[in-house]
Amino acid sequence: MSGDPEHPDRPERTAVAALADDFVAGLRDWLTIPSIGADPAHHGDVARSARWLADTLRADGWPDVRVWDSGPALPAVYACWPAADPDAPTVLVYGHHDVQPVDPVELWRHPPFEPALVGEELFGRGASDDKGQVAMHLLGVKAHLAATGASAPAVTIKLFVEGEEESGSPHITKLLDEHRDELACDLVVFSDTPLYSRDAPTVCTGQRGVYGAEVVFTGGGSDVHSGRAGGSVPNPATALARLVAALHDDEGRVRLRDFYADVVEPTERERADYAALPFDEAVWLANSGGAQVLAGEAGWSTLERVWVRPTAEVNGIFGGYTGPGLKTIVPASASVKLSFRLVPDQDPERIADALREFVAAHTPDGVRSEVIAAGDGAPPYAVDVSHPAVGAVRDALEAAFDQPVRYSRTGGSGPAALLHGWLGVPVVYLGATLPDDRIHAPNERVVVPLLLRGAEAAARLWRLLPERLR
Ligand SMILES: [Zn+2]
Repeated sequence: MSGDPEHPDRPERTAVAALADDFVAGLRDWLTIPSIGADPAHHGDVARSARWLADTLRADGWPDVRVWDSGPALPAVYACWPAADPDAPTVLVYGHHDVQPVDPVELWRHPPFEPALVGEELFGRGASDDKGQVAMHLLGVKAHLAATGASAPAVTIKLFVEGEEESGSPHITKLLDEHRDELACDLVVFSDTPLYSRDAPTVCTGQRGVYGAEVVFTGGGSDVHSGRAGGSVPNPATALARLVAALHDDEGRVRLRDFYADVVEPTERERADYAALPFDEAVWLANSGGAQVLAGEAGWSTLERVWVRPTAEVNGIFGGYTGPGLKTIVPASASVKLSFRLVPDQDPERIADALREFVAAHTPDGVRSEVIAAGDGAPPYAVDVSHPAVGAVRDALEAAFDQPVRYSRTGGSGPAALLHGWLGVPVVYLGATLPDDRIHAPNERVVVPLLLRGAEAAARLWRLLPERLR
């Protein structure tokens, strides 16, 4: 197909522009389905969302489309469009179609499932996380075919769109196990992460892992009058406060045994890229719950602290009397909920062992301690930036955004490490949303022109990969 006069050498851009209105209309339609995975009352909607996607893929010409809905996982969608060349590489695109709950719904300026296009922004639950990015890939494949004039893509493209990501992907390993053959691939393209910013597009190269647990300290069997027994028996809340205070040293380093032993430091190139990204401290603080100052591990920049350094956070701490007025007791128990963000190559299991040891060492005589893990945790993941697919993604994004693209990571967690572990292939990230899209919050939005650039980048990537992966 010949390009338009404005972009004679950019057939993907021309194709995306021609399809843009249909793309927005389709995405708006999908966003009306409240596929809230966390709420059983909406599980029928998750199924409806999966059917919507499957029907749309079939209408787009995908030759093999399936809804995996035999349970216990909420319905996932799988599709495959084989390349004409049987020796071409196979790429698996990962995304999800379940969405977060919408509470508090009164804070939404537009109802969350009545998508509203305001200027360049499309508002609605799931617009950014993650239906927008899945729809971006559907457009990318169409644009790739239009730009190349071919009836099949240059790489075999598989799509795996999960229905439980917002619930922590509880059955993803079952799906990966049951569908090993269908999901077999040479590369995963993971599309559930943002660009660094609108002015500084980036290629994400990793996500942190996470491990969480609650620590419970118990003294006697019941609360006791602080005038009668206080000063004569251990106070579990005081003991717990000492444990929490001991979790970090004065430099902000976590004091679990060997906590940093497996940490892989980023490459010089990655650190240089992070340092070159625009960073506005005031904006960062405003977007960080209105914090007053930056704080964290000594010797690392803010971006490094959230992208490539592990952390320990107190998520909640409670015990004894918390009602109005005063109640003079020595409490029977006290608890703290902790989470640890992990970086390659930290292992959640080893962190769990180190936490149990730390708790035992900080449990005084007469106090019983218990560590209740919140599941197995999620391992961290980072792709080797020297892998040719990472370079291909960066080149595709640079061409689509008309500017240099640097490396970034995200501080959050997701199933990239699981996909890497089960499928045995590298995972690269292609995202075109923004960190301030208010995902998981009221007034989630996506910036439509960025999704269009992302689709153009995806379309170019499919053209680049056969040669880059040779
Ligand atoms: Zn997501």
